[in-house]
Amino acid sequence: MIRKKMYIDGEWVEARSGAVRQSINPCDGQPIAEVPEGGREDAQAAIAAARRAFDHDGWPQTPAAERGAMLYKLSELIVRDKEELAQLETLDTGKTLEESRWDMDDIAGIFRYFAGLADKDGGEVIDSPIPDSTSTVIREPVGVCGQISPWNYPLLQASWKMAPALAAGCTIVMKPSEITPLTTIKVTELAEEAGYPKGVVNLVLGPGASVGDELSSNHDVDLISFTGGIVTGKKIIQAASTNVKKIALELGGKNPNIIFADADFDTAVDYALNGVFFHAGQICSAGARVMVEDPIYDKFVAALKARMEKIVVGKWTDEKTQMGPLISAQHLAKVKGYVEIGQQEGAKLLLGGNLPEDPELRNGYFYMPTLFADCTNDMRIVQEEVFGPVITVERFSTEDEAVERANSTVYGLSAGFWTRDPDRIQRVSRALRFGTVWVNDFNVYFVQAPWGGYKQSGMGRELGRIGLEEYTEVKHIYQNH
Ligand code: NAD
Repeated sequence: MIRKKMYIDGEWVEARSGAVRQSINPCDGQPIAEVPEGGREDAQAAIAAARRAFDHDGWPQTPAAERGAMLYKLSELIVRDKEELAQLETLDTGKTLEESRWDMDDIAGIFRYFAGLADKDGGEVIDSPIPDSTSTVIREPVGVCGQISPWNYPLLQASWKMAPALAAGCTIVMKPSEITPLTTIKVTELAEEAGYPKGVVNLVLGPGASVGDELSSNHDVDLISFTGGIVTGKKIIQAASTNVKKIALELGGKNPNIIFADADFDTAVDYALNGVFFHAGQICSAGARVMVEDPIYDKFVAALKARMEKIVVGKWTDEKTQMGPLISAQHLAKVKGYVEIGQQEGAKLLLGGNLPEDPELRNGYFYMPTLFADCTNDMRIVQEEVFGPVITVERFSTEDEAVERANSTVYGLSAGFWTRDPDRIQRVSRALRFGTVWVNDFNVYFVQAPWGGYKQSGMGRELGRIGLEEYTEVKHIYQNH
């Protein structure tokens, strides 16, 4: 069994309470690793170390080019250890090795991108209206950052936070999801190897209610960056309000994928699948809400069903596997509960809604691809985030109706639509109230473009130039000659 520690003030340590927690393999429910289960006192020690490194040990004064070089070294170490990282991610999450390898390529690219950006913001001199004066605007690192990540893309989500914060000159206390800590531990080992001074990078493992809440409420933390569910996000806003710390939130999504009748039919069917079945639908931007225009509705639903029947569910150790398990027994129960709700609400269950037949999979948290047709806007199965391999399909008749219904949600993370009409592309992409809109594609993201949600899907943006700016304060220096 893998045995790991957490990293506070440049030391690998156990929890002060001595508590440990087992990581569970979602493919068979068996333990794969044992890690410390930290608490508030561990989080406080890490925050104190990050505070010292920021206030007294000179990290923010390190030349930006040097910070960039260190981050670049970290990206190279990730490339070197890609296979080990991919295997750890797959062990922890059950997703296929191929998916984990893609994630690791992305992650190395994220560190590389922010390494390059670290020394590119020289500030600006502005035109002062007062004679004989100089006015300069500069950006400075925001300070000590608490960072909390979820279990669905464990290291990818952590890298979206770690890389820009370190590029900006902040110090960090990272808390990965307690369910999937392994790759974040490994990358912290690589950060130590890359040469980060003690206290700059800290890793505390443990539950959200203690470690996560301490990071959100502690007055020595200047910024809290969180990715996870809306309910937790609201708790974090409250906890963070006690010292008005900066807040960055990436929350959930219920993402419409709208298929107009003039779409390229086969590609739209392909992407309706790709939009949902990666990592068993446990994706914040899953296009789980498919809306199809009346003339092609029946044909589209039939094609979707035929394609979904072919998805091979299984363990990642089996080469034929296309879709792995859900993350935990608790999450499996949640997904099953939503499918029951859908049936009670009158949605037409066309496929799935059950566990796999294969007895080999019965100890894991597998669930079959599930298709609901004839859904309506008011159904909970349409409005709420199921976070599993479940697609709902709705019929619509006009462009206005499609846009209005797609927007009638508390979420605003991402949306996609399919059409060949250039005027419609312009109208609909502006009318949709989501942080990302995909036209004739779905679930595309890259580090150069910002990512984040409208409405209750979050606050602030990650990735891109703006993702670095989130970790900075803006200072105006006015000098009277
Ligand atoms: P979650 O909210 O249960 O947990 C996320 C993290 O918050 C974990 O590390 C957890 O320990 C911690 N946490 C729990 N309670 C806390 C508290 N009171 N204070 C501070 N921290 C606390 O979410 P999850 O189940 O791990 O992840 C799934 C959710 O994440 C989904 O809603 C998904 O849409 C969302 N997500 C969003 C994005 C995005 O980019 N917008 C990306 C990935 C996942």
